[in-house]
Formats: sequence, structure tokens, C-alpha cells
Amino acid sequence: MVRWCWLLWLLPGALWAEAIGGYAAGCQMNARALPGSGPGYYVIRSERQRYYGQPQMIHYLQDLGHRVSRAGLPPMLVGDIAMQRGGPFAYGHRSHQTGLDADIWLRSPPANPLPRQLETIEAVDMVDHRHYILSADFRDQQRQLLALAARDQRVNRIFVHPLIKQAMCQAYGESPWLRKIRPWFGHSSHFHVRLTCPEGQSRCQPQAPVPAGTGCGAELAGWLNDKAGEITAGPRTPWRPTLPKACVGWVR
Ligand SMILES: [Zn+2]
Repeated sequence: MVRWCWLLWLLPGALWAEAIGGYAAGCQMNARALPGSGPGYYVIRSERQRYYGQPQMIHYLQDLGHRVSRAGLPPMLVGDIAMQRGGPFAYGHRSHQTGLDADIWLRSPPANPLPRQLETIEAVDMVDHRHYILSADFRDQQRQLLALAARDQRVNRIFVHPLIKQAMCQAYGESPWLRKIRPWFGHSSHFHVRLTCPEGQSRCQPQAPVPAGTGCGAELAGWLNDKAGEITAGPRTPWRPTLPKACVGWVR
């Protein structure tokens, strides 16, 4: 028995899942892989191997898939979560480092997609950027998907384009979960779900709580007026943050 205890003590990273550091400067231990498909969802672009997350994230996505299918909505498309050990991506977003962030596309999949189609599927932009309005592709099914995603207690915030936040405010009025839907440029073809640090994980660095209220008033108006901000939100140079000590040498 004593020998077994020694083994357990030596291998904590391999046995217990943990999110370490901040969403944009961290890593993860013992991540789980989201299976390529399940009720109500498909993983896209799996060849990038960014389908690893903390168990809380994997369960959240699977639960959301069940809710999507029960609501009669088309299956959702799950894009990047995190790399197996987390850490910064070589390209793309700055966050997604601790297995607690995931991107869900707003377009529907083709019926019975082949794995090859899921690798190459194109994003559909829900915003007509020239006229600064939502496109005809943004419909009630997108609103319902976002509402289902945001109602879950595990969700800390969800990032969407300001015009999508506006559409959610118009559709759902004073719903308390609206505060979790946060405007952010660059989120017009997908939304980004961020979960709260799992209970008891002291090395997971939380983000400041979202402000009180629905965020549908002055704050949203500020975002909607900042069209210049949208134009400058283009591709960024690779993000190389200073990682917590526990992540150095663990991530690539
Ligand atoms: Zn994202």
C-alpha cells in the first residue's frame, strides 16, 4: 500500500486534471480529448489536434450537445479547444491555453458530413461588415444555440461580435445570463465559451467577474460605435506570454 502511495505522489500531472495559470498564459495537466462526434455536435479541423480540454469543458460540450439535439437544433460545430498540454498556439488566438476555452461555430454542418468535409468546412460570417448589420445567415437557431450555451452555470463568459450581442439583447431582454455574453471583435463566425476555474484548483487564475447588469445598455453602445476597433482586429503576431513555472518545459 505504501509503495502505491509513492507512485501516486510521483505522477500527479498524469493523474489529476488541472488548469494552471491564466486563460492567455497557462497550460493544462491530464486533459481529456473530446470525441470527434456525439449527440448534437461534431468536432471540426481535428487534424490540428486542438480538441483537448479540462474534464469540465469536455462534459460541458457534451451536455450542450445533448441540449442542442433535444431542442431540435442542427448539430453544433466545435472548433478549437486547446492542445493536449495547453499553452499558446503557434497561430490564432491568444487564449485557449488552459483547456477552459472553446470555439463553437455559428454555421450548421452539412447533413451527415464526411470526416473530410469536417476538416475543410468553411466558416460563415454572420456579419455584413460593409453595411455593419447581421447577415441573413444569423437566424433564430443561432440565437437559441447561444442562449443554451450561456445558461449553463459552468460558463464564465461568451465572446460574440457586438452586433450579435445586440441581437441577443433584443431577443432575450432582461435574462440574467445575458451578462455573460460579452461583445468582442473577431467573433462573427463563431462564439467563444470560457468556463470558470474549476472548484479547488488554486493554480487556475480566474478572470475578473463580468460587470453587473445585462451589458445591453451603454457598454454595448460603446462597442457598436467603435467600428474602427473592428477594422484593427486583424491577424496578430504569435503570442508568447510568460508562463507559470509549472508550465515551463511542459508545453512545447
Ligand atoms: Zn476562441
